[in-house]
Amino acid sequence: MIMTEGPSILFIKNKLQRYKGKIVSKVSGTTQVDESLFAHALLIDIQTFGKNFLFLFKEFFVAIEVNLVGNVLVNKQKKVAASFSYHFEENEINFYDSEIMILKAKPSDYFNLKTDISKSEFDADFILNELRTNHAEESIGDALLNQKILAGVGPIIRTETLYHAKIHPDSLIKSIPEKKLIFLLKMIQDYAEEFLTLLKTSSVEKNALIFEKKNCPKDKTPILMEEIGNIKTYVCPKCQKFFT
Ligand SMILES: [Zn+2]
Repeated sequence: MIMTEGPSILFIKNKLQRYKGKIVSKVSGTTQVDESLFAHALLIDIQTFGKNFLFLFKEFFVAIEVNLVGNVLVNKQKKVAASFSYHFEENEINFYDSEIMILKAKPSDYFNLKTDISKSEFDADFILNELRTNHAEESIGDALLNQKILAGVGPIIRTETLYHAKIHPDSLIKSIPEKKLIFLLKMIQDYAEEFLTLLKTSSVEKNALIFEKKNCPKDKTPILMEEIGNIKTYVCPKCQKFFT
């Protein structure tokens, strides 16, 4: 079970790109939607925002948030019913255990592109201000997985970037020096890019420094696993400073 992160959604989106410009013959699934919207609708574009796929039609777009990488299947089905499926003349895309939203707007009207770690619009100054103004009392480990603050951070990006920045995930945002936070945000943006490259060429998990690893590569200290909000994070207690 691999949880999605912004770059993995982007990677799958690139594979779905061949459905751009195609006509949807119908949609189905357990999610209640106005199916008439999709009758012979032209799929204009496929984009992403954080962990959402965005399917753009003329009058609206569909945002689909997928939590596990294996929950998007093309021309294959699971035994359980899909949350939502697109049917084309000869193909289908099935989304399982996913959140579907249909919005009569443009993606940029609804999502703040400055918060998406994989977008050129990503604005570290904006995020820094948001963290220090509205989330100062929270732990950085919690804040990193809050998709409203940083869209696209998942468990691997959280673990690896906090390790690189030498910050313990339980550190309170108000106690972390500003320059450390700036470095962390830079790391997140850089690592999101590296993550996408690794998906194309190698393995993200294999190349991770401490995610699901036993010992710190630097000092051989046993890596601790903890769960924050039911999602695993890994910590080197020696390298990562706990700011309280
Ligand atoms: Zn260490």
